[in-house]
Amino acid sequence: MELTQSTAVLHVGSQSDKHDLNYPVLKLTDIGVRFNNTVALRDITFELQAGERVAVIGPNGAGKSTLFNVISGVLAPSQGQVDIYGHVPGEHICIAYVSQRSQVDWQFPANVADVVMMGRIGRMGLFRWPKRADWQVVEEALELVGMSHLSKRQIGELSGGQQQRVFIARALAQEAQLMLMDEPLSGLDVKSQEDIFSILDKLRQRRVTVLVATHDLNLAAERFDRLMLLNQTLLGFGQADQVFTPELLSQAYSGSMRLIETPNGTMFLSDDHCCGGEEHTHD
Ligand code: ADP
Ligand code: MG
Repeated sequence: MELTQSTAVLHVGSQSDKHDLNYPVLKLTDIGVRFNNTVALRDITFELQAGERVAVIGPNGAGKSTLFNVISGVLAPSQGQVDIYGHVPGEHICIAYVSQRSQVDWQFPANVADVVMMGRIGRMGLFRWPKRADWQVVEEALELVGMSHLSKRQIGELSGGQQQRVFIARALAQEAQLMLMDEPLSGLDVKSQEDIFSILDKLRQRRVTVLVATHDLNLAAERFDRLMLLNQTLLGFGQADQVFTPELLSQAYSGSMRLIETPNGTMFLSDDHCCGGEEHTHD
């Protein structure tokens, strides 16, 4: 399937939420995705609980973005089932998808507040005309991500870290309960990464469940409740000490990771992680 930029970025459903609280926030059962003859994902089964912060890790091409596309309903799986509170993804506006920055069209003529207001579309009434209450939600969301002072700025004129925060604000305005963030930390300097984490802490207080794809294994281990190690299939899912074993890591990263035994333990060097020519942006 062709994933258009606007589909990924502006993905909001239009139906009202249907939540059955007897079900987990997210449940995948035996999900498989094939693109022609390429298997992108197979046998993916897991559940998430409300308020969890989970890192999705795996080398380039492991299927992280494909997984997010399936969960958000942008891409139909070749097999298996996705349930959000017991219902298929298309019925939900409670999922927000902050896609990989490279997929976003920054020439889009809109200012920061407009972009955040797009998160309200699914919650607006028949005529889709923002009410005072909608603008208030937008303002609060911008406040939370520290972007109120730039609300009239064109989205294309912002730094990478600022753009990321605007898209998180849009997800907040959507009042999402499940947030998917595809590599939000890549290419950000340490300060901007910390800004993202302080927003994630606020989301945790609101019991928002967050899935974050990342290449940073250290941050994954230190700052997330559980780690999902992915390479086509789910190789491990649990706490860092269960997932970051030499066996599982070499299975996931076979070609692109070196394990070096030292007197103080095994050191993992991922080719993915370092020196990949990432741009570093500053706020
Ligand atoms: P990651 O996000 O972990 O880097 P992706 O989910 O982007 O991985 O890709 C997983 C696999 O699926 C890769 O082999 C990729 O080439 C393939 N793939 C992803 N999207 C498409 C598509 N639209 N058409 C064909 N193949 C695709
Ligand atoms: Mg990806």
